[in-house]
Amino acid sequence: QTFEQLNLHDDLMKGIYAVGFKKPSKIQEVALPLLLSNPPRNLIGQSQSGTGKTAAFSLDMLSRVDPALMTPQAICLAPSRELARQIQEVIDKIGQFTDIKTFLAVPGSWSRNVRIDKHILIGTPGTLVDMLSRGKSIFDPKQIRVFVLDEADEMIAMQGLGDQTTRIKRMLPPNVQNVLFSATFNDNVREFAERFAPEANQLFL
Ligand code: AMP
Repeated sequence: QTFEQLNLHDDLMKGIYAVGFKKPSKIQEVALPLLLSNPPRNLIGQSQSGTGKTAAFSLDMLSRVDPALMTPQAICLAPSRELARQIQEVIDKIGQFTDIKTFLAVPGSWSRNVRIDKHILIGTPGTLVDMLSRGKSIFDPKQIRVFVLDEADEMIAMQGLGDQTTRIKRMLPPNVQNVLFSATFNDNVREFAERFAPEANQLFL
């Protein structure tokens, strides 16, 4: 399998080459055709870090946002500010030849009454809830097309993060593509994942 077979945008292919990826990792080989399918399908994936999952969901978000619309169209939530920042770096590198801009949604990064005109938000659940509690003044949740949860097990384990994620999801349009990655799946995580991403393709490698 090659990246060329995935029908990615030329600007994203340039980004992949610039980052130095030669061919898809095992998880990318399976996840990318599912993630990029049309109409979009939900995905639940089991994956440790080091497998290439970040690039997989990053390519999905980068493929689905319209750079001409100056409003957030994809959200990726992570359990920590540090992980969110690392994800942002991956998206920025792969997307460096596109006009797509990212925004790190963590405490202190946004201000009241200042609209966000970037395309992809990467952040922690509490900050997204705070932003959305201001109605549409920060960004319009109805423009979101892709909702990614990374390290979902970590978020569920942390008091309240799972609830916050559910609250955010309720504000998004019903046809959002929901993508969830988790390193582990106990009953609790599985139940959450199936509520978060109904009728998902499931990937257990
Ligand atoms: P992750 O699982 O997202 O934490 O990624 C782990 C590491 O794999 C990162 O350092 C990436 O740069 C690297 N990586 C991701 N995809 C590929 C690929 N297709 N070829 C080579 N390295 C990759």
